[in-house]
Formats: sequence, C-alpha cells, structure tokens
Amino acid sequence: MIGAGLGGLSAACRLARDGNRVTVVEKNSGPGGKVNRVTASGFSFDTGASLVTMKHVFEDLFEYCGEDLADHLEFVPLDPICRYFWKDGTTLDTSTDIRRTETAIASFAPEDARALAGYLEASKKKYEIAERTFLSRSLNDLPRLLTPSNVPDLFRISSTRTLDSYNSKYFSSKKIRQLFDRYATYNGSSPYESPATFALIPHVEFGLGAWYPKGGIYGIPTEIEALARRAGVEFRYSEPVEEIVIENGRVSGVRTAERLLDADAVVANSDAVDTCRRLIPGNHRQRYSDAKLDTIEPSCGGFVILLGVRRKFEELAHHNIFFSEDYRAEFEAIFGTLTVPDDPTIYVCATSRTDATQAPDGCENLFILLNAPYTGVVDWEAEKEVLAERVIGMLESFGLEGLRESAVYRETITPADFEKRYRANRGSIYGVSSNGILSAFMRFPNKSREIEGLYFAGGTTHPGGGMPLVLLSGKMAAEMIGKD
Ligand SMILES: Cc1cc2nc3c(=O)[nH]c(=O)nc-3n(C[C@H](O)[C@H](O)[C@H](O)COP(=O)(O)OP(=O)(O)OC[C@H]3O[C@@H](n4cnc5c(N)ncnc54)[C@H](O)[C@@H]3O)c2cc1C
Repeated sequence: MIGAGLGGLSAACRLARDGNRVTVVEKNSGPGGKVNRVTASGFSFDTGASLVTMKHVFEDLFEYCGEDLADHLEFVPLDPICRYFWKDGTTLDTSTDIRRTETAIASFAPEDARALAGYLEASKKKYEIAERTFLSRSLNDLPRLLTPSNVPDLFRISSTRTLDSYNSKYFSSKKIRQLFDRYATYNGSSPYESPATFALIPHVEFGLGAWYPKGGIYGIPTEIEALARRAGVEFRYSEPVEEIVIENGRVSGVRTAERLLDADAVVANSDAVDTCRRLIPGNHRQRYSDAKLDTIEPSCGGFVILLGVRRKFEELAHHNIFFSEDYRAEFEAIFGTLTVPDDPTIYVCATSRTDATQAPDGCENLFILLNAPYTGVVDWEAEKEVLAERVIGMLESFGLEGLRESAVYRETITPADFEKRYRANRGSIYGVSSNGILSAFMRFPNKSREIEGLYFAGGTTHPGGGMPLVLLSGKMAAEMIGKD
C-alpha cells in the first residue's frame, strides 16, 4: 500500500482482515494524509476534512473487521447542520428536521420553502440509485453496471444539466439556489459545470445526517490505523515510495530509498495523477502519458487559516458559511483564471462550539477555508498573509467584530502546501474535479487497465473525493484484489 490516507487505510484493513499480509508505506510521519491535525497554544485544529457524512460507511469498515465503531469513536449529530450568512445581514440555519429548515427558508423565500420537500425527495431517489450503482461498483465493472435493470436508473441520475440549472428549476431565491449550489464544492467542483447528478448530496446531509467525532476528525484516521494494526497491517512511515517496480507488465513491488519491497499487488493510495507521473516509468503507461495527465482537471484547492481566538463568538454554529455576492464570478476565478476570487465564500468551522476539548476555556479554534484555485497561477508564498488579512477583515464585516485583535494563534495552509505535504496533484483537495457531464466516467478506475497487480484507492479514483467515498474506493480496491 502506498500512502496512509483514508482510502489506503480502508483497503489495508479489509485486505488484512481477508488474510493478506499488508504493508503500508507512507512518506509522512503518521496516518491520515489530508485528514490531519495541528495542536498549538492549547488549541487543536483539524486541518483537512471537517464534516462527516455517510456515517454508515465508517461503521461498515469497523464491522468488516469484527469491531464496533461506537467502541472507538463517539459520533455526535450536528443540529444545526450549518449556519449560512449573507452580506445583507440575513442568516439561515439548516437542520435534519426538515420542518425547521422549511420554516427558516420561509422567512424570506416562502415559495422555495414549499419546494424543499420535493427537492429532497428527488435527492433521496438519486442517492439511492447511486448507492446501488456507482457507490457499490468499481468503474472496472462498468459493463456489469450497464444491465437492462440498471440502465434506466443510470439515465435517471445522469444529466446533461448542470447542478445550478437543476437547482434553479426548484428554487427562485438567489440565496437558496446558492445554498444548494454549494454542494458541488463537496467534491471540489463548480455548480456551473458539474452535472445535476450531485443534487444527490443534499440527501446525504439532510437525510443521513451531519456528524462530528468527539475529540476531532483526526480521531478517524487514528482509530482506523489502530484497527489496521489489530488486523495485522505493518506501517512504515517517513519512507516515500520512489518507484512501482514492474516486470513483464506486472507489478513486483515498490522501491523506496532504503529498500525494495516485494509485493503480489500494490495499491496506490497516493494521488493517482502524481503516482503515474512520478512512480510509473512512462513506457508502462500508454493510457496515462504525461500529456494525457496534463488534461485531467484537478478539483479546486483550499486556502486554510487556523485561528485560535481568546474569546467566544456566540454568533457561530459548528459549521458556518459566509456567502459571496456573485457565486458565478467566484467559480469563474477558481476554475477559469485560476485566481483567488475578489469576493470569496468563506467557510468557518468551530469545533469548540461542540467540543470543549478543542480550545482553552473561553476560546474558539477557528478553521477557516476558502475554495481556492489549484496551483499554477497564484504565488501562494507571496499571497498567503495578505489573503489571510483580507479574509479576517471580511469576517469582521460580517459581524465577527474583534476577530483580528482576539487572535492568539494563526497559521495558513495553501494549495502549494497540500501539494508538497501529501503530493496532491496541483494542491487539489478532493482529487479530480467533477466539472463536466461525463466526469464520473473519466476517473481513475480502482484497478489499472494496463499494469497487472496495480490498484488505486483515494480521492483521485472512483467513486471520488471526500472521506466516505475514499473509504469506499479502498473497499472496491480490496474487493478486486480478492477476486483476482
Ligand atoms: C481542506 C480540506 C477540507 C476537506 N473537507 C472535507 C469534508 O469536510 N468532508 C469530507 O468528507 N472530506 C473533506 N475533504 C476531503 C478528504 O479529506 C479527502 O478526500 C480524503 O481525506 C482523501 O483521502 P485519500 O485516501 O485520497 O488520501 P490522501 O489524504 O490524499 O492521502 C494520500 C497519502 O499518500 C501519501 N503519499 C503520496 N505519495 C506517496 C509516496 N510516493 N510514497 C508514500 N506515500 C505517499 C501522502 O503523504 C498521503 O498521506 C477535505 C480535504 C481538505 C484538504
């Protein structure tokens, strides 16, 4: 296994549980990949993922290994799910209690409140179809997916419309459309380019719930790593893989600076684009030449500010979104000119609102995130402090007065950092973008189509980025190895 990100950990647990001897080789000093943590000045910050959805996928992994997730992590449901702020001073809390969400929407868009139930019902149907097709089958199984019983379903969730165009059919208020358009960013894409298929994501949040594991998100990789060790997996940290060794079209192991490790199968949890470019010699990849890899659009990157503040901000919920005025212009900057939007939407996660262990008494641990362009145009080293100042100023104008002055800890993480730390292709935070109607079919499959014994698991591969989906990709890779 190359990489101890969540996709790799998931595959490792399952393969070991199936009786295989598994070694995970990771370049960094610990597990988790993009799900990571910083502790400083009494604050604890998750530095990557902050929202847990599809809890059943996490439970399923522990169950497969003969254990119960609840014995290791306490997942608490979040209500409100998220607090939304607009510049005109309006705010809205969403809740898994749909009546409450309807009432909140009705206060400024009564007709959209009436549309909500129908929208969420359609979202649920889309999710259920995806769950029995894309989310349970590898792309290598595509021919098996295209059965007479599945084809009508696949047409039902596939769409030539964009998510924004679909949402505008249901909602007339610009604010509510913006709220539901934002779900495209759950896989790092633009609502103006990604297909309406992603209208299934609201069901994931409203129907299946939004969760937080007590002690912080970093508990997830920590506990899954422990699960893997109990199943017999061996970990080698601080040891980057330099090459996937291929003999006669078949993998025979991996090479690091220290050693050659023999293997019957290799799972690359490392970013698939980076893996091809860096670890597989060009003569072994006709499908993924360097030129082809250049055409694969990464998901957006992320610009993060970790801000420890010595006061409480009662106006904040656990998850908060401060919306921009012009959502379309924002995505045109991110994916079009690859520049930081002039007026970005700002996400603030304050786990200290739910969990007192995450910040000193009377303080908040703010994780502030902007969707940002992947690397290539912005000089992040030169820009990061200026941008952090600008974002803090914007949050103060939204009403978080005294934010700058109360900060006692501040650190920024840029797309260039994500690229360097985790070898994420161009600093993308979700792997490959889902912009484009056929994007779901264009991802890396979980099993190489040209090198025997090579498998892929992680955000760049099927079924996509985000914690639950990468756990599923690890499951698919493990199942394919089992079959082979
Ligand atoms: C800022 C941010 C916010 C996010 N928010 C959410 C959220 O709220 N909810 C959600 O579900 N998801 C969220 N995500 C996405 C989610 O975190 C990722 O999709 C997921 O964690 C990626 O897992 P992965 O299996 O692809 O592995 P990665 O995390 O990409 O890990 C890959 C591992 O491989 C290692 N590696 C790479 N190359 C080599 C090599 N040559 N040799 C050895 N090791 C190597 C890397 O060091 C890394 O540890 C967020 C991500 C970020 C960054």
